[in-house]
Amino acid sequence: MGRAFTYVILGGGVAAGYAALEFVRRRGDASPGELCIISDEAVAPYERPALSKGYLLPEVAGGARLPAFHTCVGANDQLLTESWYKEHGIELILGTKVISADVLRKALLTSTGETISYKTLIVATGARALMLEEFGGNGSDAENVCYLRNIVDADKLVHVMRSSPGGNAIVIGGGYIGMECAAALVANKIKVTIVFPGKHCMDRLFTPKIAEFYENYYTSKGVTFIKGTAVSSLEISSGKVTTAILRDGRRLPADMVVVGIGARANTTLFDGQLAMDKGGIKVNGQMQTSDATVYAVGDVATFPVKLLGGDARRFEHVDCTRRTARHAVAAALNPSSAGDIDYLPFFYSRVFALSWRFYGDNAGEAVHFGDMSLSASSAKFGAFWVSAGRIAGAFLEGGSTEEYEAIAHAVRRGVAVPDMAQLAREGLAFVVRE
Ligand code: FAD
Ligand code: NDP
Repeated sequence: MGRAFTYVILGGGVAAGYAALEFVRRRGDASPGELCIISDEAVAPYERPALSKGYLLPEVAGGARLPAFHTCVGANDQLLTESWYKEHGIELILGTKVISADVLRKALLTSTGETISYKTLIVATGARALMLEEFGGNGSDAENVCYLRNIVDADKLVHVMRSSPGGNAIVIGGGYIGMECAAALVANKIKVTIVFPGKHCMDRLFTPKIAEFYENYYTSKGVTFIKGTAVSSLEISSGKVTTAILRDGRRLPADMVVVGIGARANTTLFDGQLAMDKGGIKVNGQMQTSDATVYAVGDVATFPVKLLGGDARRFEHVDCTRRTARHAVAAALNPSSAGDIDYLPFFYSRVFALSWRFYGDNAGEAVHFGDMSLSASSAKFGAFWVSAGRIAGAFLEGGSTEEYEAIAHAVRRGVAVPDMAQLAREGLAFVVRE
């Protein structure tokens, strides 16, 4: 059994949705056998960030549900429901896992036993959540232990959360999932304890000072932080976790557990077939892998970032996913005119009434600005990272659209900082008046 397509997008997440829209914009509707998307998820591509935000809101607040957050609404663009793909001639092969790939033969084997061949492949397999067992832990199968990568996970999390009103949640990990889920749990009136081994939350991005603000804010909402240690095991009774046991022997009662201990890019189908770098599939500025007929985009792609002197980076963030997906389609359809991607790294998060954005690279010396006390009526503060006398990165909490644009612009231009004291004194005004 087999089918052949000119273009195949492997994976049906954020990148796939943006790639499909770009394809139709550039080329018009696909003709039969021209383009398919293969996804092991049961639904059309959706905006994954919604899963840790709107999707987890209490029922009374009317949490976001599909079809409202299919791609590409996250970029204020068209809502691509399943019927959109049909109307535009794109074959959406859902609920189907690709179990092996043969790059030389240009063929993919699916879990249904079908072979799908391609002329051009766009790999958009994203990442998976790391499991407790990979760190010597246990309990991932328990009824009340939740991960959060896809809509099936999100449904389980919502179900467990609603079955534990007023209960205790142990959140393992102080990164994006841990912090965003903790805020959602609080909104659902669940008592939260966050446990992680680092010195402070979000330690790959936040400075200790920035982290202190968020930790104090969460604490003011009733969240407890246990830092510098890890959950060594989970005690399970009748299929449910009852207690989390810490490395130092402490026992924490648990009605539910949320795990966010990092992600790993889904590259294994291509191990030994495509060049790899930094945990992802290595691509050039056109998102083309070591095999010219295969492109890689989104979380799975490690690409050269011009702004960082061509340094190869892999990001696990949605803005990068959208842009790399569009760029790969442009390059695949018209290799001579696409040029190399010129990406400004951009991450963001929204929790409680807070909202921050980060642009660039958190390399060099951090200079903080603004009022970082909890007493301010609404928080507005941030930091610039200065490297080799220029602004390399910028973080801003509570900014306006114009202010975010100003910091992004300053990073993009690498504004010179002749005097660090002046930057510290002027803070945001240093770039807003530019
Ligand atoms: P994904 O969206 O993960 O899609 C990969 C797809 O490939 C999935 O459908 C998967 O099932 C499928 N797949 C994988 N392997 C196979 C296979 N062998 N066969 C068939 N299908 C396969 N980023 C931000 O910048 N801001 C945010 O606020 C934010 N919030 C997030 C919240 C959550 C809960 C999560 C999990 C991530 C969040 N991110 C956020 C990160 C962002 O969602 C990712 O960077 C983005 O989804 C990556 O897109 P992708 O298409 O590369 O991968
Ligand atoms: P992160 O990498 O953001 O954070 C992982 C956290 O887990 C870190 O605090 C890490 O601590 C901690 N950790 C690692 N090992 C252990 C352990 N054994 N026990 C306890 N804690 C541990 O990953 P997440 O899981 O939070 O996020 C998964 C993916 O989802 C990422 O790709 C992320 O980018 C994406 N995402 C992005 C969002 C956004 O951009 N707003 C929102 C939600 C998800 P340490 O650093 O000290 O090792």
